[in-house]
Amino acid sequence: MSLVSQAVHAAACDPPAMASSLLHCSDKLPFMNVETILHMKEGLGETSYAQNSSLQRRGMDTLRSLIINSAADVYLSQMPERFAVADLGCSSGPNALCLAEDIIGSIGRICCRSSRPPPEFSVLLNDLPTNDFNTIFFSLPEFTDRLKAAAKSDEWGHPMVFLSGVPGSFYGRLFPAKSVHFVCSCSSLHWLSQVPPGLFDEMNKPINKGKMYISSTSPLSVPMAYLRQFQRDFSLFLKSRAAEVFPGGRMVLAMLGRQADGYIDRRTTFLWELLSESFASLVEQGLVEEDKVDAYNVPFYAPSIGEIEEEVRREGSFRLDYVQTYEINLSSSGDAKEDGRTVSMAIRAIQESMLSHHFGPEIVDALFAKYTELVTASMEREEVKSVQIGVVLTRL
Ligand code: SAH
Repeated sequence: MSLVSQAVHAAACDPPAMASSLLHCSDKLPFMNVETILHMKEGLGETSYAQNSSLQRRGMDTLRSLIINSAADVYLSQMPERFAVADLGCSSGPNALCLAEDIIGSIGRICCRSSRPPPEFSVLLNDLPTNDFNTIFFSLPEFTDRLKAAAKSDEWGHPMVFLSGVPGSFYGRLFPAKSVHFVCSCSSLHWLSQVPPGLFDEMNKPINKGKMYISSTSPLSVPMAYLRQFQRDFSLFLKSRAAEVFPGGRMVLAMLGRQADGYIDRRTTFLWELLSESFASLVEQGLVEEDKVDAYNVPFYAPSIGEIEEEVRREGSFRLDYVQTYEINLSSSGDAKEDGRTVSMAIRAIQESMLSHHFGPEIVDALFAKYTELVTASMEREEVKSVQIGVVLTRL
């Protein structure tokens, strides 16, 4: 490894995305600005995302070879001197750099086998501005050491790797036009740019009472509001990437999704339902006001394959090469207590920023004590699973 440099550049705010979030900024509606509030728990402590992202790692691992092979195919078809890889929604902790490491290693070995010098790599790590980029940068020396060791043991050359943090929303432009060869994104695109409009009636009363996501008790207008927000966001995502990815470049996207076309896939709604149940218990104990719970909705949507296909076709800049659902078993160790804690800590690391914003930080410990109890009890009864969708797209 000759050189690894780091830089941070901020993408200018995308005007359409900004305009759509301001539309909601009325004094009447509880407003959560996702771009400034949503972030995975920072640092390396016990409740950090870095320590509690093994479930997402498992999701990433199911698509690992697809990601690496797709990146290598793009390299082989274009053989550029500089190969630019972007990871969108990289977060912080061990998952943030592992795909880049695998892709560089794989292309390094390909070049070595054909006695060709490796390209220079530009690794673009994107997340929202409030993401803990510092923790990623602190781990850079270990990343460099691992790449050096791999290069030495596999006898491939010494690629130059330039690493940049790119703070900004992927629902808007992040990179200059035609500057990226390969994009990957794991466990991120199920986050919407905002809580969908339409979850309150004309009197400003919440319509999704007691629930924070689509549930069997939600009126039909709730899933419709979520679907519309997903369609708007995903099409803006595709349009933004269409400008940035070279023709022939690829994207591999992995997000939570549904296997059925109906709005409820129990495997996707189950953990939200248990969080709503945990809140109900806090309301009963007088720790949280019911109105606050009724008004809390998550900026999350798990699409079906059909809904993804439709947006790709409608936007028109990418060819859909592959799309598949994967079931991920969250009951991995066979010990319900251990698995329950793992799942509960993972959801806490993801949700804490939003929950603290809406309810105040003082409820978080009590909430997750109850949640751990409920998740563990479910895992004692049954295997808890989630569904991930993997998509490969080529820029036309
Ligand atoms: N890819 C990592 C992290 C997944 S967590 C892994 O697989 O472990 C999801 C990440 O997506 C979070 O860090 C969150 O901040 C980020 N994210 C959510 N919405 C985003 C947006 N609009 N733009 C950029 N990043 C976003």
